[in-house]
Amino acid sequence: MAEKKKFQAIKGTRDLLPPETELWDRVEQTARKVFGTFGFGEIRPPMIERTRLFERAVGSDTDIVSKEMFNWVDDPDLSGAMTKIRDEMRKTETLPAVDGTAAHAMLEKQARLGAFNNLAERVRVALRPEATASVCRAYIEHEMHALPQPVKLWYTGPMFRRERPQKGRYRQFYQIGAEVLEMVPPNQDPTKNIGKDAAVDAEVIEMVMAFFARLGLESVKLEINSIGDRDCRPKYVELLRAELLKVKEKLGPDSQRRIETNPLRVLDSKLESEQGIIAGLPRIVDHLCTNCAAQYAEVKRQLGMRGVPYAENWRLVRGLDYYMRTTFEITALGLGSQNAVCGGGRYDGLVELLGGQPTKGIGFAIGEDRLILSLQEAGKGGTPQSRDIFVAWMGERAQAAAILAAQKLRAAGFRVELPPVEQKFGRALGQADKLGARYALILGDDEIATGQWTVKTLADGSQAKMSEAQFLEMVARSKTLSS
Ligand code: AMP
Repeated sequence: MAEKKKFQAIKGTRDLLPPETELWDRVEQTARKVFGTFGFGEIRPPMIERTRLFERAVGSDTDIVSKEMFNWVDDPDLSGAMTKIRDEMRKTETLPAVDGTAAHAMLEKQARLGAFNNLAERVRVALRPEATASVCRAYIEHEMHALPQPVKLWYTGPMFRRERPQKGRYRQFYQIGAEVLEMVPPNQDPTKNIGKDAAVDAEVIEMVMAFFARLGLESVKLEINSIGDRDCRPKYVELLRAELLKVKEKLGPDSQRRIETNPLRVLDSKLESEQGIIAGLPRIVDHLCTNCAAQYAEVKRQLGMRGVPYAENWRLVRGLDYYMRTTFEITALGLGSQNAVCGGGRYDGLVELLGGQPTKGIGFAIGEDRLILSLQEAGKGGTPQSRDIFVAWMGERAQAAAILAAQKLRAAGFRVELPPVEQKFGRALGQADKLGARYALILGDDEIATGQWTVKTLADGSQAKMSEAQFLEMVARSKTLSS
């Protein structure tokens, strides 16, 4: 007989199960409440988008886009045709171009492949690795610049990155994020309004911190930095590159490569042997242009006014291309090396890059999986799965009464377990206990005959007789006390 193979969740993905999902729900409800008090509305963008959106927004050179995206050509005919042409080309390439005809045929195939590749680019789609690009796309598509500005949106949902899975790092993970987008009115110099931008940055950071405080997240640390703008950052990057070239031999292969591709990322390095060298590198804070320096100083002043404690970290550069000026990262208890629970920053210009009007933007993304891990680590895992009331019944008439009672109790918002078949009361009470019920409502012939229900409080084992109305009043009172 063939061995039965068990299906398992794909590596890097997992099932979220009760009772843990109650904590997930609490976290998302809290986000909704807290963000709502800051004037944010929820956006639910799709999980698939054109691959080009992420290439353009996040950057083709980032790990997220170049290595980790789940993407495919969303046209089976085209996909098949491309494979065929590629195979043919491979065959042709191995033949010497002995005469003009063969060479011509090859050129033609190459041209066809080029055309196909272009077409394929247009129909290539990806599972979203992050949501800021989608929110900006939606802002443009729905002409949100015509709404009162700024537009404040928050989201929650799964993101997908083909990363090496480990604790706190998954291939399908969840983010809770928010974005503030504001079109720059025509003729307004986008570099002006530095004080206003700084206040928006500080309020967004204040909001995340308020959310974490509401959840009781522990050991929360906020780090901030400014990474300059299109004016001062390129000059700093060149300076950094020149300094890194002087110490190239002492750096590891990753950092050596990054000197060419993205010198800022060298500052991210966790390699022990590189720490001393990095400490001596020029710092961007000392090379900010006047506007960026003024904005950074104002963000710090604003955070102070709002009572938000922070530390400056000049090495905080963030991995995505679109950030400018304010960047920040938040860490929390118990997350080991993957301890960043939130990352964010300002991204003026991203909407324009995606084809919209000049627009300012600031946002963040919280890793919900890590947030949950940290809450669990701190013993804030929350409510175990429980029932308020277990309805134990015996006999046909009792079942009818039990169904009615369960309907009323559920309508009043109680969690009710109603066994589908009758059970001896001893067994039923054992099950009620296992489920963590607070009360067992016992309905047998006696109770039906007298209209007096038997109610057992499971915590102390006490038992009492009461009418339906008295019972409803009692449970309602105990619910108010516990909530
Ligand atoms: P990023 O979009 O890379 O700025 O990430 C924002 C936050 O999402 C990080 O601080 C993490 O908390 C979380 N995050 C990013 N990648 C993953 C992943 N593969 N698994 C779990 N959480 C992640």
